[in-house]
Amino acid sequence: MTFATYRGRFAPSPTGLLHAGSLCTAVGSYLEARARGGEWLLRMEDLDPPREMAGAADHILRTLDAFGFEWDGEVAYQSRRHALYRHALERLIASGHAYPCNCTRKDIAALARRGLDGYVYPGLCRQRSPEQGGRAWRLRLADGETSLQDRLQGVYSQNLARDIGDFVLLRADGLWAYQLAVVVDDAEQGVSDVVRGADLLVSTPRQIAVQQALGVPTPAYCHLPVLVNAAGEKLSKQTLAPAISAAAAAAELRQALSRLGHTPPPDCGSLAELWAWARASWSLDRVPAGPITIDA
Ligand code: GLU
Repeated sequence: MTFATYRGRFAPSPTGLLHAGSLCTAVGSYLEARARGGEWLLRMEDLDPPREMAGAADHILRTLDAFGFEWDGEVAYQSRRHALYRHALERLIASGHAYPCNCTRKDIAALARRGLDGYVYPGLCRQRSPEQGGRAWRLRLADGETSLQDRLQGVYSQNLARDIGDFVLLRADGLWAYQLAVVVDDAEQGVSDVVRGADLLVSTPRQIAVQQALGVPTPAYCHLPVLVNAAGEKLSKQTLAPAISAAAAAAELRQALSRLGHTPPPDCGSLAELWAWARASWSLDRVPAGPITIDA
């Protein structure tokens, strides 16, 4: 399936403020969209209120604006899109792809082996019928390899049944799983190209499995390098990455561009000059694929 127009997106979770790592992701996905003559959407992934930080969503939007990002259309909020996720789950249930599950974490931990991203669900509820209901809903995986050709990371494959296991679509606490919501939104918003951080490469085969089960197209993927600290940990709220500052936007943007293989000439001083140079110079070929260590 090919898309008529390039449409990219940036999809922050308001669990914290933007840091140098999320800025690199935003810059890379924005410049790639503009270089391809495409659109760039903004989607707030606010599906997990207990993990969210008060005021973070607005702060993220204000910061992106102060940095000079120009997004297309209205910001989408996942918290307002529950009906779409519900409809997708109903379709997956009707087609036999989703089944209810009543297992607790303890049940699973007692039996399961660890896979690539936590426990591999041991299939205890696989025979439950939708009518029996359950606290959570899982996607029933078929055996076989799921592969993608990432534009930066190359070929990436998983045997989902072996490496991940039937994963959750609707959580026992009633919250929608990221893996379902992201697929529903990318499809519904017509996203042709997903450019995001390489920490999400491990999730991509799961998202392809959901796309295939729903019969929606698979976008092109490009996973940008993540920033890591001296201990090799990804910059995040957990590793206490400092928030980027709108007051120092030009310096922060210059640094993000350099990290992405595009060091601006010294005479690009202002935000406007930096963006103009970056838009004219951007090429994915110059972006490094591996993690970038920063001394912060
Ligand atoms: N909301 C996710 C995050 O902030 C990104 C989701 C995506 O780009 O697919 O890590």
